[in-house]
Amino acid sequence: MAKIYNFSAGPAVMPKKVLEKVQTELLSYKNSGMSVMEISHRSSLFSEIQENAEKNLRRLMDIPSEYDVLFLQGGATLQFTMAPLNFANNFKRIGFINTGHWSQRAIEEANLINGVEAIEIASGFSSGYTKLPEENRTSEDLDYVHITLNNTIEGTAYKEVPYMKDKFLVGDMSSNILGQRYNVSDFGMIYAGAQKNIGPAGLTVVIVRHDLVEKSPNLPAMLSYKKLVNKNSTLNTPPVFAIYCAGLVFEWLIAEGGIDVIEKKNREKAQLLYDFLDNSSLFSSPVSVKNRSITNIPFVTGNSSLDAKFIAMATENGFVGLKGHRLVGGMRASLYNAFPIEGVKELLKIMQKFELEYK
Ligand code: PMP
Repeated sequence: MAKIYNFSAGPAVMPKKVLEKVQTELLSYKNSGMSVMEISHRSSLFSEIQENAEKNLRRLMDIPSEYDVLFLQGGATLQFTMAPLNFANNFKRIGFINTGHWSQRAIEEANLINGVEAIEIASGFSSGYTKLPEENRTSEDLDYVHITLNNTIEGTAYKEVPYMKDKFLVGDMSSNILGQRYNVSDFGMIYAGAQKNIGPAGLTVVIVRHDLVEKSPNLPAMLSYKKLVNKNSTLNTPPVFAIYCAGLVFEWLIAEGGIDVIEKKNREKAQLLYDFLDNSSLFSSPVSVKNRSITNIPFVTGNSSLDAKFIAMATENGFVGLKGHRLVGGMRASLYNAFPIEGVKELLKIMQKFELEYK
C-alpha cells in the first residue's frame, strides 16, 4: 500500500509502534489466551493496565498527588456538562473565555443547566477567533473560569495560562494534552477527549483537584466526579480497550523522552509549515503569529475552489485529512505527537509544486 500521511484532527494518527504492539497482543494478552477486549474490567489483568496507565500519565504530566485521575466516557463534550454540575454550585455563574467553536459549545451546554449562567469574560470574536483575547474580565461572583487551551478548528493555542486570581481554571486540553507542557497545578481541572494525542476515541481523561471533588454535590453517579473517583473510574464498565491503548501511548511517549522532548519536536514540525506559509505567494496562515497552535494549523489559498483543488490533489497523493473544518473551510494540518516530521516535509513539497502551478 502507498504511504499515507494522516493529518486528521481526530480520531488521529497513532504511534506505529503502539499499533504494532496492539497487533501482537491482540489475540492473547499476556498469554491469557484472551484479547484485552475480552477480559473482565474487574480482573487483575485489567487493574494492572489501568494502574500503569494512571502512573505513567502522572509521570508524563507531573500530576501532583492532590489531583485525581479519571478515565471516563462521553467525550470532552460530556465534560461541558459535568464540570458545571460538579463545580457551579455557589454563585451558579461560570466565566468563559470564548476562543472559538469548542468554547462556545461549552458555553451552550453550561447554559442548559437549570439555574447556571455562563458569562463570557473575554472573546476572540472581533478577530474572527484568529487571536486569543488579551484581557479577561474576571469578577468575584464566578464559581470558576473555563478555558480552551488549544482551539482545534481555529488554530490558536495558549502558551501561558492566564492568571485568574482566586478563581480556579477548568481547562479543555483535548487537542494538545501531552503535546506541550502545562503546569497541572495552574488548573482546578483538566479534561481531554482521547482521540488526538492519547489513543482511540471512547475515552476521556479528567484530572481534577481532590478538594474540588470533595466539595461537589450529590449527583447521579455517572455525572459525579466524587462517585467516579470513589470507584476508581470503574463505577460501570470502563472503555477497557481504549484505556489499554492509551496506556501503550503513555509508555511510548515516556520512551520518546516525555512531553518536553515531544514538544520540541512538535514546535519544529509546526515551524517548518509556518515558515513555508509566511513566505508563500499562494498559501497563508490566518492566525496571529503569537497565538499559533503547534498541533492544528489551518491555512488557505484565499480562493475556495483552489483550496478544493489542492485538497483533491493532496488526497490523491496520500495526504489525507487536510480538509479544514466545515465551519472555517480551507485546509488544516493536524500535527499531533505521532505525526512524523517527514510528513510535513513531504507536504511542503506538494504545496510548493501546487504554488508554482497556480500562484
Ligand atoms: N474540545 C475540543 C478542543 C475539541 O477539539 C473537541 C473535538 N474535536 C471537543 C472538545 C469535543 O470532543 P469529543 O468529540 O470528545 O466530545
